[in-house]
Amino acid sequence: MSWFRTDADCLDYLEWLRWPDSFVCPRCSVVGGWCLGDGRFECTACGRRTSVTAGTIFDRTRTPLTVWFMACWMFATQKDGVSAQSLQRSLEIGSYQTAWAMLHRLRSVLIRPGRERLSGIVEVDETFIGGEEPGLRGGRAKGKKSLVVIAVELREPKGYGRCRMTIVPDASGPSLHAMIADHVEPGTQVITDGWQGYRKIDKLGYVHDRRSQRAARAGGDDPAELLPGVHRIASLAKRWLLGTHQGSVDEAHLQSYLDEFVFRFNRRTSRSRGLVFYRVLELAVGHDPVRYHDLIVRPTPAKNPPSTPGGTGHPPSLERSPATRPWRAA
Ligand SMILES: [Zn+2]
Repeated sequence: MSWFRTDADCLDYLEWLRWPDSFVCPRCSVVGGWCLGDGRFECTACGRRTSVTAGTIFDRTRTPLTVWFMACWMFATQKDGVSAQSLQRSLEIGSYQTAWAMLHRLRSVLIRPGRERLSGIVEVDETFIGGEEPGLRGGRAKGKKSLVVIAVELREPKGYGRCRMTIVPDASGPSLHAMIADHVEPGTQVITDGWQGYRKIDKLGYVHDRRSQRAARAGGDDPAELLPGVHRIASLAKRWLLGTHQGSVDEAHLQSYLDEFVFRFNRRTSRSRGLVFYRVLELAVGHDPVRYHDLIVRPTPAKNPPSTPGGTGHPPSLERSPATRPWRAA
């Protein structure tokens, strides 16, 4: 707060993040420009006038930048992030919708294009997330759950590296293969259970380590401990959604909450909270504007075309016994 007392302080910081060396014209990409009295820059080549926030997620915002920076600080540095309701209260933001949209804009910048895929040894499994509606009890408490594929790096001798979480339309081979190809580097050792949807991932260049639940049970091992990494991520994510956000996460926005969870999880060992704050602002100032309209209508991304009925088309993991999926039963 002492660094960013005024909007001008915030603008200075954003300018430094957006144009670390010198102003670059967003229209003609020519480097260099005049700084005008109102804080905007004028391109020396084409004459285009640009403000630091134009073309970023802060474009045309009516919220003061000082409030944005405080929101970003809470979002980036609090262990569990912040809910729209508590953001609205603590920063005295006019409406819940404004606070909600600010947080969604921040979430929308977290996926850096071209980020590195997971590597080394990676566990992959699916689970159902969501569907809890606050205020409802028993059978009626079930909204629509989404099928989420979780991938997490295992560290030797113990511990976890980075993770990824993606909503998939079903647990068919094409859906699972696409998720793995998007998020895991070829050559990686991929550990899965015996589910048929994971078959043939070795054809995609992965070293497939298939672990049978039946074999684990027969060998006296707990089948739930077959994939401890994804189990752990799933329970942390669900606890976070129920705790910080009290389960009030609708299906259409679940992916962006998962993105936030993954962003924070992957930076959990970062020693500097300020560095994470810096990182979020850097991503925000490098991201195209996100309109309110896009936030409220954005559908759940469906990467794969719906598969044919019957055969692998039916979401088969629904049929699996909950006893072998303990975190799903909760
Ligand atoms: Zn220009």
